[in-house]
Amino acid sequence: MASGDGIQIPSRLPLLLSHEGVLLPGSTVRFTVDSPRNMHLVSQRLLKGTSLKSTIIGVIPNTRDPDHDTDDLPTLHKIGTAGIAVQVVGSNWPKPHYTLLITGLCRFSVSSLLKERPFVLAEVEQLDKLEHYTTPVTEGATAKGGELGELSHKFYQAAVQLLGMLDMSVPVVAKFRRLLDSLPRETLPDVVASMIRTSNKEKLQVLDALTLEERFKKALPMLTRQIEGLTLLQKTRKISPEKEKRVLSVRKGGALRGRRFNLEEEAEDEDGDDTAVLEKKVHAAKMPEAALRVCLKELKRLKKMPQSMPEFSLTRNYLDLMVELPWSKSTKDCLDIQAARTLLDNDHYAMDKLKRRVLEYLAVRQLKASLKGPILCFVGPPGVGKTSVGRSIARTLGRGFHRIALGGVCDQSDIRGHRRTYVGSMPGRIINGLKTVAVNNPVILLDEVDKLGKSLQGDPAAALLEVLDPEQNHSFTDHYLNVAFDLSQVLFIATANTTATIPPALLDRMEVLQVPGYTQEEKVEIAHRHLIPNQLEQHGLTPQQLHIPQDSTQDIISSYTREAGVRSLERKFGAICRAVAVKVAEGHRVTVTDASTSERPPLQGDKAAPPEMPIVIDHVALKDILGPPLFEMEVSERLTLPGVAVGLAWTPLGGEILFVEASRMEGEGQLTLTGQLGDVMKESAHLAISWLRANAKTYQLTNMGGGPDPLEGTDIHLHFPAGAVTKDGPSAGVTIVTCLASLFSGRLVRSDVAMTGEITLRGLVLPVGGIKDKVLAAHRAGVKRVILPKRNQKDLEELPANVTADLDFVTAANLDEVLNAAFDGGFPGIASSHTQPQLTSKL
Ligand code: ADP
Repeated sequence: MASGDGIQIPSRLPLLLSHEGVLLPGSTVRFTVDSPRNMHLVSQRLLKGTSLKSTIIGVIPNTRDPDHDTDDLPTLHKIGTAGIAVQVVGSNWPKPHYTLLITGLCRFSVSSLLKERPFVLAEVEQLDKLEHYTTPVTEGATAKGGELGELSHKFYQAAVQLLGMLDMSVPVVAKFRRLLDSLPRETLPDVVASMIRTSNKEKLQVLDALTLEERFKKALPMLTRQIEGLTLLQKTRKISPEKEKRVLSVRKGGALRGRRFNLEEEAEDEDGDDTAVLEKKVHAAKMPEAALRVCLKELKRLKKMPQSMPEFSLTRNYLDLMVELPWSKSTKDCLDIQAARTLLDNDHYAMDKLKRRVLEYLAVRQLKASLKGPILCFVGPPGVGKTSVGRSIARTLGRGFHRIALGGVCDQSDIRGHRRTYVGSMPGRIINGLKTVAVNNPVILLDEVDKLGKSLQGDPAAALLEVLDPEQNHSFTDHYLNVAFDLSQVLFIATANTTATIPPALLDRMEVLQVPGYTQEEKVEIAHRHLIPNQLEQHGLTPQQLHIPQDSTQDIISSYTREAGVRSLERKFGAICRAVAVKVAEGHRVTVTDASTSERPPLQGDKAAPPEMPIVIDHVALKDILGPPLFEMEVSERLTLPGVAVGLAWTPLGGEILFVEASRMEGEGQLTLTGQLGDVMKESAHLAISWLRANAKTYQLTNMGGGPDPLEGTDIHLHFPAGAVTKDGPSAGVTIVTCLASLFSGRLVRSDVAMTGEITLRGLVLPVGGIKDKVLAAHRAGVKRVILPKRNQKDLEELPANVTADLDFVTAANLDEVLNAAFDGGFPGIASSHTQPQLTSKL
């Protein structure tokens, strides 16, 4: 290292032809090279070399290396920068290329080209002295007088000013600040020009400025420009939003960016108002302390959140729900028992027992407002008015009404909500319902509690228990809300088709009120008092336009519906109303062509031929509108062969008549059972056969060949046709016995008899449930005689008088009595006089 001349770069330098970047001494620039000469330079010189010297190359700016080795070299820029390649990275993707990191050392000028291939090698002359770069700043250097000293001082000051405007916490800025004082002033134009925002052209000007003075002069305006730009930017940021808005709206037409800014500003402002409104609502919602605290916390979070965050809308929705919930909004009960009675009577025909119990319940509530009594649960077939009574209760109390259908609910979060951490989480049905009715003391009808499901997602019945339990429900915590809501003011009423499938823990908290099906006569009354007027009104018709006589109603009930309730009856009236509505509408504007196509000759001037009012629905009209009858009285038809008997069954949909058919064929004494059967039914069948075999002699029952054992050489097939309803339950015992007795004796069962009762092996008849529904079903089907267990006699008192008047009841204590009543002329056994007293004494 020769002092005085400073560090020397090699006099022969391989040249990198750069097109894009300008390397200035003192700065580090990344170059991507992919042209042949440059690639060769890297592979044959940089990667092969072993000394520090071999890493020094010359970078010539503003020259594009030709794409082919063979092409002539373009004219090179005269001045370049010698630099050290500090990093070489090669890659094959997307095409072979190297990325070089080069730190500039000093300027050089190209004296002559030595060779062009495989890379350019040139004889160069070093222009800058390198020693200054390593010498720290000296007083002498700064004190250099004259124009240069002034310039360099000015430049230094400007650089300091620029740095003062930048954020010192950024590492690069801090480093620059340190460098500024330690670098020799001469190097500043190069270093600063490569750091501030300058174009390649400007950098080239700095590179080409060979004297220091010139270099300062070229670089200073660039520095000042940068300072001015920054000052302007900072000024705009400091303006208050209001002022800026004004400034910006003035420029609205022109500056697009300004306008966008303006809009954003407004949106933000609106949002601010929104949260303020929300906050007001939170305070106005009169929620309990705990809920208020949660809301305020969420509100605070919301204010800090940017609107674009997904959580923003989640929190927003939550707060919206919280302020909407009726924390302390309630209706005042206006209970007047007299009025309630009238209202219930007006809304519903029959169901006296239910109405009486409801009135009692309401009366007790009136006396003791904070009643923690059991939940009423209406149990009965569909369409008997359970929901509609619930609605009436709400009306008599002047309360809100909400119905929650529980059929098929098998996830406890349906009741209790999802935690807010889940995507798409929401409150459960109870809280949702309260939001809808907007009071905290509505009547909530839990429809179909017997159809609650169970699944992996927890037991909804357990959640419901929490809702219904008066000890717990004053602090019901929905998972979504996560704060307690007081449900104690809500009046819950449940409905179900059967108690059998209501979860026991739930059933325990309920008072079950049975709502049996209606008799034919009751249905006619309900139809004329309620259903028909309702349907007329819904279809915009008046009694002056449509008249349905009682006869037709009875026809509809018996031939077009078979149900315990009145729902499909109501639908049939709907169908009739629609058909009539069309006629009425047509009548208003019958055109001439219409009139001429009708059978009678068109009358002169009789353009509109309105149907005669009211339109009366007779049997013919019924058939036209509803089609051929859906149900026939099939009982008598079916009993034309031995081996058929009619039983009575109870299903959740009400009572039903149940046919039992039997046939026998040659075989080995096998019993086949078909038709949807439960296990108990199979047992009943075996019991019946055993009893008949044991008493075959007494009743002269024979097999196909006339032998004394009915099963000898015989297979028996028992079938329970009609419907997919599983016929479980022992109450078909007597029917099976009767059916088989008919088969084995060859005698016909009376065609107008239906029966029910459980049997024992000894031939006793045991009581069964659902008598009222069963008898009503028998009555509907046109049966005249009903055989039932003696111990069910008391159940007959519940039946309407008109039904009991139509039917002949035979109560039987044993099978002998059953058979006697089921066959015309009795079913005498040889030893009947012996067995009968024996059996009855056992009762
Ligand atoms: P459920 O809830 O028992 O299935 P709904 O309450 O929905 O039955 O009743 C079905 C329809 O029958 C309703 O329009 C209802 O008003 C009517 N209804 C049922 N029973 C009566 C009755 N006793 N008096 C008047 N209308 C009734």
